[in-house]
Amino acid sequence: MNPVTNLAAVAIQAVFALENAQKWTAQWPDVTLPECVPDAAMATGAWRAERTDAGGVRITGGAEGLRLGVYAWCKALGIRWFSPNESPLVPDAPRPVPESFFGTHKPSLPYRGLHTCGCRDHFDPNVALWMSFHGFNRRLDTLREAFDHKDEYARLGLVSDTTVHSYSLILPAAQHFADHPEWYPLIGGKRLEKGGELCLSNPEMRRAFADSLRQWIGKNPGVSPVGICPNDGYGWCECDACRALDTEEDRQKGTVNGRIADFVKFICDEFPDQTIGHYSYSNFADFYKLLDPLPKNLVLSFTAFHCQRHRVFDADCPTNAKFARRADELLAKGARFYIYDYYTYQWGFLPAPMWKTVAADVREWRTRGVEGFLSEVSSTGATSWDSFWPALLMAGEMMLNADADPDAIIDDWCATRYGRAAAAMRDYFRVWEKGFERVESFVKAPEEFARIFQPDAEKPLEAAEKADPDNPFVKKARKQFDAWKANLTEREKYVSAKEVALGPDLRKLPIHFVAKASQTIDAANDAEAEMAVRDGRVFVRLTAHETKMDNIKTVSSVYSSDCFELFFADGKEAKKTFHFLVSHDGRIAAAESQGSRWNWNWEHHATVKVEKTADRWILNFEMPLSDANVTDIGQLAFTFIRNRYASGRWQILGAPAGGAFFDTARYIRARAD
Ligand SMILES: [Zn+2]
Ligand SMILES: [Zn+2]
Repeated sequence: MNPVTNLAAVAIQAVFALENAQKWTAQWPDVTLPECVPDAAMATGAWRAERTDAGGVRITGGAEGLRLGVYAWCKALGIRWFSPNESPLVPDAPRPVPESFFGTHKPSLPYRGLHTCGCRDHFDPNVALWMSFHGFNRRLDTLREAFDHKDEYARLGLVSDTTVHSYSLILPAAQHFADHPEWYPLIGGKRLEKGGELCLSNPEMRRAFADSLRQWIGKNPGVSPVGICPNDGYGWCECDACRALDTEEDRQKGTVNGRIADFVKFICDEFPDQTIGHYSYSNFADFYKLLDPLPKNLVLSFTAFHCQRHRVFDADCPTNAKFARRADELLAKGARFYIYDYYTYQWGFLPAPMWKTVAADVREWRTRGVEGFLSEVSSTGATSWDSFWPALLMAGEMMLNADADPDAIIDDWCATRYGRAAAAMRDYFRVWEKGFERVESFVKAPEEFARIFQPDAEKPLEAAEKADPDNPFVKKARKQFDAWKANLTEREKYVSAKEVALGPDLRKLPIHFVAKASQTIDAANDAEAEMAVRDGRVFVRLTAHETKMDNIKTVSSVYSSDCFELFFADGKEAKKTFHFLVSHDGRIAAAESQGSRWNWNWEHHATVKVEKTADRWILNFEMPLSDANVTDIGQLAFTFIRNRYASGRWQILGAPAGGAFFDTARYIRARAD
């Protein structure tokens, strides 16, 4: 990766780290802050610590190196910060600085990031500070977000990676479509203003794109990589010149690798001094194969929703074998890439004893020359931080030093966190590591929890409570363990029926709208479903109980408002679905979907009516069975989802088991009464 070239930032992140160090060490009269000596010639992130003649500590390094050195000094004195949901822990007295602190250090992976979801501008200052303390250096932003917060990020030493959907930000249609419709995609003989990509073959568009990108980079000199990824979704140009850029295989399969390869090469040539970031997924996953040689300044974002029991590149894991193959191909081609991960996604507060896998992953990435790693995480306060901090902290520690011993890292956590209960809690961690022995893979499917749960963990936990009854972290572990245990029995009450009998009159269905992680309901804000079939039509009545009717969210897109989703399987084709979104104010959007092809212009004949009272909103939905190609009740299969934002954080509640979405094999089936 490019070093941060903004020299002002060099001082800023080190100065800010020193300010924090001063705050934390103020209660220790004999401790003086380290002397920081900038040395721009040192590699990015590298730092050297030595003793001064006066008995103090001197740290030498570049911008990032100085920050890492200052925080390493804090850790050497015993300061720890386990999770953004907790405050930094400062011991009563400083520890003697260990010999291993002195000498020269350099992070094992150059790219170390987290992406905070579910907060404004993807920026949670507390999570960002936690990242800065633990040596992370990347976050994911749009160019606009990167610009709006650039001073805060400079202080934290967090560099914005703008490898996100970005065509519409770089060449907004609102600004250019009127004068240059030819820059936008030709679809069905018409240039499309909204919801599509760009006419990538158009040379004038390319120049305008490069000019706009140059302006953005001028405002954001620290951004790296600079992303130039297509907009989310599809809508590719069908003009002759764009098609001519595609390969024969593209034209047969509906992919667009050829045009993306050509455009990426153009931008990489245009910006030789910038690291350019691009996704390698969707219908342009293989574009890099067409570039020979690959531009040296191109970095790929390798998205991997993988099994977390095994390494991402474990060729023997049935889920991860495809990622292993892909990594081999990329590395053989000399491609630069980092891993884009989803650690906490849909698992929330449940146990995730994957810290050893994480350590093995980081070691392998270092050996194989992967640039680094970025995972989606939640903002402060989310319960997922209470269950995932060991995995995320392990990633952070190992990325700084892949030679570290993961067991020694956990020993340290226990010693610094649990006081007299350290030994018992160390056993507790070991018991949880066995959690994966009873699952073949860990892809965060709801049914995996029962097998990962370790009743044996009760014993070391009791020993810990005996050893240090007042330790707040032991108390926290007890609360967490009891919540997991309670959830195991609780969740059994909310398993939806696999099959429901339907008659001509509405009847309440034995199904439950549960959260994917907890598999339980929010009793006061539960939803219920009634259904009937008569005269060739299906009737659905969905009731959303709501304690915060005043907080219901309404925005221009149906999907981002409080809404229900109804999916019906196609009566003929097993993997095809008909998908309805209906907001609390009665707006409807519908698509016919099969694989990556979503047709939002699908002509349906459903009607909806919404009723509202002080404590609920009710959706009445009606559709001819023929819309779903269903001729017999036995062919009817469905899944329902409620997207609730009234509580201030998105809750996705669905039947069955958190919602089956496009997975028709899991749909609830109907039969005639
Ligand atoms: Zn075109
Ligand atoms: Zn696996």
